[in-house]
Amino acid sequence: MRRECPQCGEFMRQVTRESVLQVPGNPQPTRTQIREWVCPECDYFEEDDSRDGDA
Ligand SMILES: [Zn+2]
Repeated sequence: MRRECPQCGEFMRQVTRESVLQVPGNPQPTRTQIREWVCPECDYFEEDDSRDGDA
């Protein structure tokens, strides 16, 4: 699956980064995997709105 950058038309790259959410009162931080599309040519990025599983 590919996506083009709406700003420059370059093919964007899909990256996965991990967000750690610290909840007060909970010693275990919650880790969330966030998928994003980033453009290698400009600074444009957007969240990947397609998800596996819960459709
Ligand atoms: Zn771009």
